Amino acid sequence: MDDDNESREKSSDEKDSGMKDKLVTSLLEGKRMEAYAEHRTGDMHHCHLCERITYKRVPGKNIGEKWFCIDCLKKMKEILDTMDQWEEELAMESKMKEQLDDNLGI
Ligand SMILES: [Zn+2]
Repeated sequence: MDDDNESREKSSDEKDSGMKDKLVTSLLEGKRMEAYAEHRTGDMHHCHLCERITYKRVPGKNIGEKWFCIDCLKKMKEILDTMDQWEEELAMESKMKEQLDDNLGI
C-alpha cells in the first residue's frame, strides 16, 4: 500500500539520526500503527440499524455478530418497554380489520 512505501522511505532518510530521534520515530510509528490498526480492525463498528460507523470510544453493544450504537439500542429499549402495549394495539388493529372485512362482506 502507499502508506507502507511512505514509511519505508522515511525510515531510510532518518537512519543517520541519533538514537533519540530513532526512538522517537519508532515510538511515533508505533502509535501511528496502533491508530491505524484500531481504525482497520474490529474496534471499528458499523451500526446495523442506522448505518453509522462508530469507533472504539463510541458506546455500543454487539448482539451476536451485529453491532448496534447506543442511540439505536435506546430506541430498541423504548420499543421493548412498550412491547406489551404495542402487541395489544396490533391485536386490536387486526381484530378491527377482521370486523371491518366482515361488515363489508369480504
Ligand atoms: Zn445506530
